Amino acid sequence: MQFKYIIGQNELIDKLITGYKENRVAHTQLFLGDEGSGALALAIAYAQFLACPDKSDNDSCGICASCLKYEKYAHPDMHFYFPTATNQSVKKDPKAGLFLTEWRNYLSENDAYITLNGWYEHLGVGNKQGYIRKDDANDIISKISLKAYEGSYKVVIIWMVDKMNESASNKLLKTLEEPPDGTILIMIGEKYEQLLPTIRSRAQLIKVPRLTNENISSRLTENGIDTNEAKDIALLANGNWNLAQEIEQDAGETQANFLNFRKWLRLCFQPKDYTGLLKFNQEMAKAGREKQKSFLSYGLEVIHNSILQNNDNGSLIKKAGEELEFTQKFARFINKANQKEMYSAFNQAIYHVERNAHAGIMYSDLSFTIVSLMAEGRDKITKEQ
Ligand SMILES: [Zn+2]
Repeated sequence: MQFKYIIGQNELIDKLITGYKENRVAHTQLFLGDEGSGALALAIAYAQFLACPDKSDNDSCGICASCLKYEKYAHPDMHFYFPTATNQSVKKDPKAGLFLTEWRNYLSENDAYITLNGWYEHLGVGNKQGYIRKDDANDIISKISLKAYEGSYKVVIIWMVDKMNESASNKLLKTLEEPPDGTILIMIGEKYEQLLPTIRSRAQLIKVPRLTNENISSRLTENGIDTNEAKDIALLANGNWNLAQEIEQDAGETQANFLNFRKWLRLCFQPKDYTGLLKFNQEMAKAGREKQKSFLSYGLEVIHNSILQNNDNGSLIKKAGEELEFTQKFARFINKANQKEMYSAFNQAIYHVERNAHAGIMYSDLSFTIVSLMAEGRDKITKEQ
């Protein structure tokens, strides 16, 4: 991770570089920043910069042997510690050293912009709380007693030090106070008030601010998101890059569901030719369970919005553009005669997906139910006119 890939934080990066140039690199540092501020990514970029033998004035080179190992989060002089709990593969005495492969994969997948919940999910620990424990503290102490393999720096990164328990921090007291020469301890935490006093008092505090809306929207735009959409997402994300990505993915999913749903309904009404519909149903049946549930839930949402449309002219509908237009058209087929059955048809389909029913048959069934319910709705409209 080079500094140039860090989102925002220019002022802080300048400060870190100046500190290095003036020979003021503290041995124990605490990067304190809210979720989505990129504190971990920043710490890794900083460590890579310190270790790079070919660094420029303001960044690591990104291509030397040291940098390449850092890019894979696998430099022998960079040691990671983080909260863990038992899971399917580690059934007792969990500690960071047992999860390094999972950790590197998770970092790579997310360019080191990670969250505690995301990490727990990646590990599959269920509802358990993770901790940094005494076993981790012992590992840290033995790791830093060794000489650096390469170069002059050995870096220990402790992510989410908020989760370090008391016995671990007591064990580390001396190390935190005075790490051996050439060792830099970077702790990363989110909530200052949740940190143990021993940790707070022994580290140089480096505050990592929340990102600005501008930071977030410009990175989203670089990633190919439309400028206006990027601004909207940034506004909702409130300085949290992870939240921004989540919002963006949700928006992408909604768009995909909308296009699929519209296509499906058109196929449902293709007179006398069900080839397209059957093909669509087969494709849908092959999708993962979560994707199917999301598609069917979108169907429920369309019906809900159609009812809103019919009741108060849709002032409560949170849709715009093509999607709104589609809902308005669809609403003409929904009325008191069929809205309840529509709901239950979709709910039942979701129930079947959850229980692994034969999805192909389920979609065909649902298609025909929807067609006939919409026809009833239409007949009612005709009679009323
Ligand atoms: Zn380098």
